[in-house]
Amino acid sequence: MQATTQLIHSIPVDPLTGAVSVPIYQTSTFVQDAPGVHKGYDYARTNNPTRETLEKIVAQLEHGTTGIAFSSGLAAIDAVVKLLKAGDEIVAVDDIYGGAYRLFTQVYRQFGITVRFVDTSDPIQVFNALTPKTRLIWLETPTNPTLKISDIAAIAKIARAQRCLLCVDNTFASPILQQPLQLGADIVIHSATKYLGGHSDLIAGVVVTKDPEPGARIKFMQNASGAILAPFDSWLLIRGIETLPLRVRQISNSALAIATYLQRHPKVDKVYYPGLTTHAGHEIAKRQSKGYGGIVSFSLKTDTEQAAKAVVTHTRLFLLAESLGGIKSLVSHPATMTHKTIPAEKRHAAGVSDSLIRLSVGLEDPEDLIQDLSQALTYAPETIKQFHHQTIKQ
Ligand SMILES: *Cc1c(COP(=O)(O)O)cnc(C)c1O
Repeated sequence: MQATTQLIHSIPVDPLTGAVSVPIYQTSTFVQDAPGVHKGYDYARTNNPTRETLEKIVAQLEHGTTGIAFSSGLAAIDAVVKLLKAGDEIVAVDDIYGGAYRLFTQVYRQFGITVRFVDTSDPIQVFNALTPKTRLIWLETPTNPTLKISDIAAIAKIARAQRCLLCVDNTFASPILQQPLQLGADIVIHSATKYLGGHSDLIAGVVVTKDPEPGARIKFMQNASGAILAPFDSWLLIRGIETLPLRVRQISNSALAIATYLQRHPKVDKVYYPGLTTHAGHEIAKRQSKGYGGIVSFSLKTDTEQAAKAVVTHTRLFLLAESLGGIKSLVSHPATMTHKTIPAEKRHAAGVSDSLIRLSVGLEDPEDLIQDLSQALTYAPETIKQFHHQTIKQ
């Protein structure tokens, strides 16, 4: 059976009533026949049938044994880090999601957990950063916003040799394109706010583990700390996941068409998209994923904030907003939005130049999206570099 068919039929029909849609069990507690004797549910923080259905669906999607649904992507990350104890170390991808960076450096450092950030697109750097205290390697691939690719299988081997866990934040690729547990990772997390939900209408996170342990410990942490996903949001997320394969396929095709268009545009300098053969991580992305996703970033030849702002304020279909992964296309300017707290020097070193623009491609017709970019790019200044070139030639 093909994966899409399998996914749609992994969403069960309600055994009690035959309802084709998963029922929303909007309840806090469950009646017990005698103390401790119940139908598998006692209190809804610990377990809720709607959430449990969602958790089984995501576990199957990622080929894991245990799925756990959280109230946000960051709550999911937090629960994974709680597997560690004071004195343990984490080696993490250097252009990590900003919220994860804040959690690692401003919260967990206080509890004696040390983090080293390295360029994980080079597995040697991961290897060199390990110490006997390293308990967790943290990857994102592709990363935000320059879509850097790390070799999951190569880093999984390093993690296994060191007996530390490898966790992959799979938000950008989605399980339709990339399945880290199949490549040797131990844990996958998602900000389900993005592609899994897919409609920009909820905040949610999921963890999936390959083995029942550490799944059981993360589930224990969730019950102990309390960041569960509510029944209605669990239902919304199930509803989003039903169309995930279709959405991701269409979005990936559109994103490739847009990246190819941008590459030929005279005002565009660099285009970052793993599907382009010119992208640094293209070969690895091709090997470890079934497609390249919906995020495209590009810089302008006139590499200034003003130039980028002229473009992002003139798109009509691409809405100017943070976040990604929804059906409506979004555009953002990382230097003044998601990455504004990073000092300019550090930001530039990570490839986030002043004019870098990030697109989250949605489900509009790709021709309309290209048309929109074409008209917005007319507002970008004529390229300074080209001008210099011409004057030198004369
Ligand atoms: C958005 C995001 C998160 C955080 O998820 P929330 O649902 O906003 O808490 C984590 N990782 C990545 C890659 C993200 O894009």
